[in-house]
This record gives sequence, C-alpha cells and structure tokens, in this order.
Amino acid sequence: MTFSIQNIIPHIQAKIAGIADDFIIENISIDSRSLQNNAGTLFFALKGQNHDGHHYIAELIKKGVRFFVVEKVPENYVDKATFLAVQNTTKALQKTAKYYRNLFHFPIIGITGSNGKTIVKEWLNFLLSPDYSIVRNPKSYNSQVGVPLSIFGTNENHNLGIFEAGISQKNEMRNLENIIHPTIGVFTHLGIAHEEGFSSLEEKIVEKTRLFTSCEVVILPRNEVVEKHIKVPTFTWSLTDEKATVFGSIKTQENQKTVIQIHYQNNSFEVTIPFQDSIAVNNAMTCMATLLYLKIDTPIIQERLQKLYPVEIRLQAKKGINGCVLIDDSYSSDYQSLKIALDFLEQQKLHSKKTIILSDIFQGGLPIDKLYQKVALAIQNNNIDRIIVIGETISKYLSELPNVIAFGATIDFLKQFNTQSFQNETILIKGARSFNFDEIVVLLEEKKHETVLEINLDALTHNLNFYKSKLHSNTKIMVMVKAFGYGNGGFEIAKLLEHNSVDYLGVAFADEGIELRKAGITLPIMVLNPENSSFPAMIAYDLEPEIYSITGLQAFLQLTQQKNITSYPIHIKLDTGMHRLGFEANDMDTLISLLRNNNFVMVKSVFSHLSASDDTHFDDFTQLQFERFHLLSQKIINALDIQPIRHILNTSGIFNYAQEMQLEMVRLGIGLYGMGNSKAERNNLQNVSTLKSVISQIREVEEGESIGYSRKFMVNKSMKVATIPIGYADGIRRAWGNEKGYVVIKNQKASILGNICMDMLMVDVTSISCIAGDEVIIFGENPNITEIATVTETIPYEILTGISQRVKRVFYKN
Ligand SMILES: *Cc1c(COP(=O)(O)O)cnc(C)c1O
Repeated sequence: MTFSIQNIIPHIQAKIAGIADDFIIENISIDSRSLQNNAGTLFFALKGQNHDGHHYIAELIKKGVRFFVVEKVPENYVDKATFLAVQNTTKALQKTAKYYRNLFHFPIIGITGSNGKTIVKEWLNFLLSPDYSIVRNPKSYNSQVGVPLSIFGTNENHNLGIFEAGISQKNEMRNLENIIHPTIGVFTHLGIAHEEGFSSLEEKIVEKTRLFTSCEVVILPRNEVVEKHIKVPTFTWSLTDEKATVFGSIKTQENQKTVIQIHYQNNSFEVTIPFQDSIAVNNAMTCMATLLYLKIDTPIIQERLQKLYPVEIRLQAKKGINGCVLIDDSYSSDYQSLKIALDFLEQQKLHSKKTIILSDIFQGGLPIDKLYQKVALAIQNNNIDRIIVIGETISKYLSELPNVIAFGATIDFLKQFNTQSFQNETILIKGARSFNFDEIVVLLEEKKHETVLEINLDALTHNLNFYKSKLHSNTKIMVMVKAFGYGNGGFEIAKLLEHNSVDYLGVAFADEGIELRKAGITLPIMVLNPENSSFPAMIAYDLEPEIYSITGLQAFLQLTQQKNITSYPIHIKLDTGMHRLGFEANDMDTLISLLRNNNFVMVKSVFSHLSASDDTHFDDFTQLQFERFHLLSQKIINALDIQPIRHILNTSGIFNYAQEMQLEMVRLGIGLYGMGNSKAERNNLQNVSTLKSVISQIREVEEGESIGYSRKFMVNKSMKVATIPIGYADGIRRAWGNEKGYVVIKNQKASILGNICMDMLMVDVTSISCIAGDEVIIFGENPNITEIATVTETIPYEILTGISQRVKRVFYKN
C-alpha cells in the first residue's frame, strides 16, 4: 500500500512550505544516523527533552532526503526540500500511522501487560506464521514512537498484525489504541509491583486495558480485578482456577520441560512446553489460549508449542574471537529487523571492517524479488566489507553483489569455517531460527566466562541526556572515561560517546588515551596525570595533557620546541582547594611569563576541581573555590588575551551548581554510569551496569556443619546452599560477606553465608526454587551499588572500578 504527501496532509493538519512537491513515501525515518535516509524518505523531526531532529535537517538534505515534517520550517532550506509544518511532530507521526493503519482491514492482535509482551509477540509470530502473513513490531518497538514506526511495516500482502503496546504514564494507552486499533486483545500479566507513572494498581489496570476498547475479545490469565475493567468479552486461562475458559493442570515439570493437561470446552489434551520456569510457562499459556481462540487444531498446537525457544529481545554486542565483536541477532530474519540491526551495526562502529552473516529472509508480504532488492539496497547503503549469505534463496538473489560469499546451508559454512578468517571486525549475525545460526555464534564467540558485567548503553545515553538537560545547549561536555570507563569498558563507551557527540573525553593516564586512539576514537582526549616520560607518546597519539606544575610545563615546552610543534593544545589545572594537583596563586607570574613567550602550546582550557560538590553543607567552601577559580583564571586570560574553555563541575557539581558554575564546559563522570551522590540525583538516572553470574552447584547442608573458610557460618537448621563462581578477586568485597550482603536469584534475596572466597561465594537458597545454572544478580537494580557501598563502608566509585578485568563485559541496547 503506498501513500503520498497529499494523502496525509489533511490528517496531520500540515501547512506545506518549501518546494511543495508531492511524492510517494517509501520510508519513514526519525533517526538522522540511520543509513536508510534517502530520497524516498519522509523524515519526522521529533523534539525530545534532549534531542531535536530539526538540527539534522541540513545533514539529511546532503544525504538526499527531500521531505520533512517539522515544527519550524528552516528558512535557509526552503529552496531545497519540501516541509510539512505541524504543531507537534510526534503527534503528526502518530496520526500518519493511524491513517496508514486504517488502509488495512485484517485482524490485529494488540498485546499489553506488565511483562512478557515482546516474548508473547515473538512466540505468537512463530506459532502463527505457517498460517498467516504477519506484520509485527520489530524487537520491542512498543512506545509512543516505536508503535507508529512498526505500523509502517504493514503492506497489502499481510493478513494478520501482532503489535505490542508499552506505556509508562497515564493517558498514553489511548494514543496507542488509536494507532493500533486491535481487534483481538492479549493481556499478558499484571505486575503488582509499583510502576513509576501510576499512582495505584487500579489506575495501572484502567490505563493498560484501554488498549482493548474496541476488541472483539481479550485473552488473559484469569484475574477478577483485571476482568472487572474489561468491557468486552474475555477468553481466560488459568493453571489454578477451573472456571477459566482454558484450564491447565501441570502434570510434570522436570529436565527443562513442563507437561500440562489442558481442558477446553469438552476437549482434554496434553501439551509439552520446553521450559520449566513459571514466567515462560505463563507466556506459553497466553500463546496457547490465543491459538485456541483462533481455532487452530489441537495437534498443531501440541506440535508447535514444543518448539518454543528463548527469545533474545535486545541486540547485544559481545566479544568475539581474534578481537572481533559480534552482534548476535540469530533469532529473526525479517526486513524490518534487518534494518534495525544494520543501524545498530553502524552506530557501534567498533571496527572499520564490517561483516554480515545473513540467512534466507522469511517474510510474507513482499514478492520475493522485491524483498531481496530491498535487502540488497540496505546492505549496500551500509558499506559492509564482507557479506556471507547462507540459504538457497538468498544465495540466488544476492550473489550478484560485490563482496558476497554464498553458502547453500549453515552446515556448508561450518565445514569450511576457519577461525583465522575473522580478525578485528564487527560481525552481524542475523538469521532465521531454522538456520541454527547459534552454532555459528558459538564458534565466533570468545570463550564464555560465566560471570558477566552487562552494560546497558541505552541507560548510559539516558543518563548523559539527563545531565545535558541541566545545561545550556552550547555548554560543552567532557566525559571522564578514566579507569576503563569507571570499570565499564573504555573503548566501547568512548564509541557511544563519540556517537552522541560529546566534546571531550578525559582519561587518567596516557596509556588509556593511547588505547582509545588505537581503537579508532577521534574525539579530543585530555590526560589528567601525564608523566613527563609519556609526553612523546602523547604527542604521537594526539592526546592533550593537563599541565599542573611549572616543571611539567617546562618539560612539555622543551619537547614541543624540539619537535618544532606550534599551538599544541594543553589544559591548565588550577588548585582552588582540593590540594591535589594544580597551580596556585603564587605560581601565576611564572606560569604567565612561560606561556606568553612562546607559541609552541595553546591554552585550550583552564580548569579546577571541586572538593565537595556532592555535599551542599560545604556550599560556602564550594563558592570560595569558584571565586578563587574565577580570580586565577581571569588573571591568565587577561594577561595572555586568550579565550580558553573554562570548567570546574563534575557530576555532582552539574547536579547542584549548574546554574551558576557551568561555564563553557563540565566534566561528567560517575553520573553517566548511573550513580549520583544523592538520592534526588539517582532518581533521575537509570542503572547501567548489572553484574551477573550463575549457580555452580547446590547442596543440602545439615545442622552442626559450617560453610566456608574459618567456619564463619554455622548451620543451625538444615539448609540449601548455592555456590556462585565469583569472589573477592573479581572485586566483590569481603565486607559484603557474612550475611551483611546478598545476591538476587529469581527475584529473591539470597544472603551470603560465611566469608567470601577468592573466586567463589556461597548463598542461602533454602526458600528459593532454583537449580544449578540459574542466573544470579550480584548487583544492578537490586542490590544496587550504592547500597553495597554503604554496607561495605566505601563509595560506589570504588566498587565499580574494582570489578576485575577478568569479568567479561557485554554491551547491549534495547
Ligand atoms: C574523575 C574526575 C571527574 C569526574 O568526577 P565524577 O565525580 O565522577 O563526576 C571530573 N574532574 C576530574 C579532574 C576528575 O578527576
């Protein structure tokens, strides 16, 4: 189904400006960084709290985009493009999606609930795709913007839609209902935990069930509180309540399988679900009820349910062999998700060399030659160095492209696989489930250590944007990535920051800066503690020193003179009360005369550091430091007649003193990583790092026995104990042992028993139903690092930077 600019103008009440052409819209975009922006694109310039799509219009015009929906027409470009001016671009995007949705008249399943939306959507897609040609949200694109974008994936060959809707505030669901307009509702799960944005459970239910306003039926787990609010017929399931439309009783549950006897109407049959945990079983029941409602035959339901698989919801970048990075998307293969994965690949930009391994694409909806044309175009736009295609169909359609290596089946690829042919490149692995690309992932993945530190790149971006929102739009930001990005991973985070256009990076030592340069980081980098011996390397790698002493300055001047360098950027550090590094008042004359009499260096910035920006009790002292800074910096500025960047604020400084002290730049550190020094600050931040491990072994221990070294924990009643392969050598402080601390298993606290060992610790799982191999959260949302720091009498900085390098880091984005 195509639509043109003229079609949507009345729906979004746009005033047309600029060239005022009409055209058939082929692609909708909101992201300037996507490589799919081209002449067929209609770009919506969305305005967020910290982001304004209008800033990218010039760049997009250069890339060939000619049609824009804007809130303000950029006068300089009226002769270059067509602009649709609207009051609110987000609303216009939603209205366009609503218009587009109404062009189609097939059933739409609308899914909401507190948890399980994406899994249920992906499973329903898997279970129903033999019978229907389905359009669905890619990944978990379920927000006020994600849903409209998902809707545009629909075309005339689809005959079923499956869309999930996620909300975080009151009144959002009405909007999504309006766009998705589902005919069949699915409610997955009601979380009883408090959710931000809703004042009560009641309010949450009322809001979420708004999605179902015009459904013919709502499928849900039996729950009278929820049902009371649903005004249309319901189709319920339960594992406990025989009154449900579909009642299941669990027969056995072992070896990662659950067998359930199902009773529906006058029929009784058995199903096997290849999972044991209750969350997966519940999601599978929701899917099964939906299939029953759709009158799928029992034997087919039995057969397909057995094949359910774990769903990887988010794209992850993991470490691969030989310095490679893998983006593992080996569970889906439609065009929409390919576009998302290619954008992710581009945004990571971890290596200059990019490889993609791609299977046949299973997607109803488009004629096959048209589909592969689009796939080829998307791949070409992304400048992929090596394209490995696996599958009869894709081999046929893509083998003409340059750089293509084709295989008929996965096994053919595996047979000739050679580890040496993958080196220092980023590899996107994307294939339909039936191609078993997980076997390829296993070969390419660096040997797994069971403990990982997961870093949520979306949360990092969120936190960056929070601090940006405290600043004027032209205030520069230096982000401190010293100590390996506060323990989170130096170059991966530096890449993300480069991508988010921060102005400067700060590291502690020259070596750290050199590593970043070798990894391809081009942002300016300031080195806080340059040793004189590292100056030559710093110049070779374009790193800018902090100069804090006369002798340091003299040594650096000598070197620049020798090398015949002019205007090398340096950063002058002033000591205003921290008494760590920096020039003081009585150094000023010498400093100024040294700087005045040469042109080897250029003072790029002048800065100082606050001792107590986190504690407003010391407000007077902070003000005093600021005054001292002003006095000293002004002296240099006046004497040399220069205009350097001035900066004094760190994370807490931005939070507490942005108004009066932001100057031309700030230096953001711990806040980026999700930790603030006050509760008020933390409330605005998202958790970035989650340290996870797994249970190695579980044992019963009898009364009178003891656990661990020095018999520190005495067992006084027989108990169940789990051993976790992480210890103080990984950075878990011993002070967190002996029942002061805990880990979380299956959402429940498991107290740490006895002394923490070097590589292991033991926890109490007496009342937790768990098995060896289950996931263990050491820290993250809960327990959070701040809590651990308080109990172990240190600060979050020490915990985070203390996580050993032997713990594998995994980066992901939603
Ligand atoms: C580490 C550091 C920062 C960042 O401090 P946070 O409290 O983590 O924001 C800023 N400036 C200097 C000089 C630093 O050493």
